[in-house]
Amino acid sequence: MAIDPDKDVDGFHPSNFGKMALEMDTFIPATPFGIIEILKRYQIETKGKHVVVIGRSHIVGKPMSILMSRKAYPGNATVTLAHSHTKNLAAISKQADIIIIALGIPNFLKADMVKEGAVIIDVGITRVPSEDSPKGYKILGDVDFDQVAPKSSYITPVPGGVGPMTIAMLLKNTLLARQRSLG
Ligand code: NAD
Repeated sequence: MAIDPDKDVDGFHPSNFGKMALEMDTFIPATPFGIIEILKRYQIETKGKHVVVIGRSHIVGKPMSILMSRKAYPGNATVTLAHSHTKNLAAISKQADIIIIALGIPNFLKADMVKEGAVIIDVGITRVPSEDSPKGYKILGDVDFDQVAPKSSYITPVPGGVGPMTIAMLLKNTLLARQRSLG
């Protein structure tokens, strides 16, 4: 609440989040904004598709579910928002045309939870100790990439997928804030 909504480039302020939900012009949170941009750039059809968002955080899952159900492209999807109390997640995720997963549990999504040809957006970033890496750790996503990639039509890697897009869209929001301040 301490942030001026006009400078809220994360898009987390209640007034900006509310505007987003009402499909008004505003700052879209950087990670969902990056995912929107990925879907656009790869011309992924979303209209009428079943999108399963796994994870309902205020910064990723919840805004993503709102954006995918809005009357616009990318959007116009039928959205299921799954979370830690969801029962039979695999039965739900197997129906998804597009899965957007933001949990923070490495390699959570397995091949038997995904239908053939699904689009997979992996938001998860978890550092796990690794002796192979000079840094002493490696970054893992929420998707078991080696298992799931052969079944998917598109899949984002971790690292190198949603993460860099988040940074880019945060900068884009910063630029938009400057342009808006100039009227
Ligand atoms: P969070 O910890 O706030 O929320 C996790 C969500 O997962 C919760 O809504 C919870 O209900 C759900 N969940 C937990 N266990 C589950 C289960 N077994 N089945 C179904 N749902 C379950 O998470 P967050 O802030 O959205 O972050 C999630 C991950 O995404 C983290 O790894 C984080 O580092 C990463 N992240 C990446 C970026 C990026 O730029 N790529 C940005 C933000 C967050």
